[in-house]
Amino acid sequence: MAANTWEYGWQWRAACRGEDTGLFFPPSHFELKDEKLTRERRAKAICAVCPVRPECLEYAVRTKESHGIWGGLNELERRVMIRERERHLKPVG
Ligand code: SF4
Repeated sequence: MAANTWEYGWQWRAACRGEDTGLFFPPSHFELKDEKLTRERRAKAICAVCPVRPECLEYAVRTKESHGIWGGLNELERRVMIRERERHLKPVG
């Protein structure tokens, strides 16, 4: 989770507080696919036991966070989730 905006109370209960933010965000240099998978797997393991995972995910979706692991999902997984939500909200016909 990004540490820039601590505007919501839920962020104080985040399991990732004090963890290496480098696990949750890609490095500035090129990252091999295996490195990305390993990094994301470690981040997601922290998210899996986080008491504020739903709040985190909703925040990332609402603010259109385009990078990193939020709520246990990476940017691509969040995009898929958003598309699915939009698809279900579209009127039929
Ligand atoms: S769900 Fe993951 S990224 Fe979000 S606050 Fe919890 S540990 Fe941090």
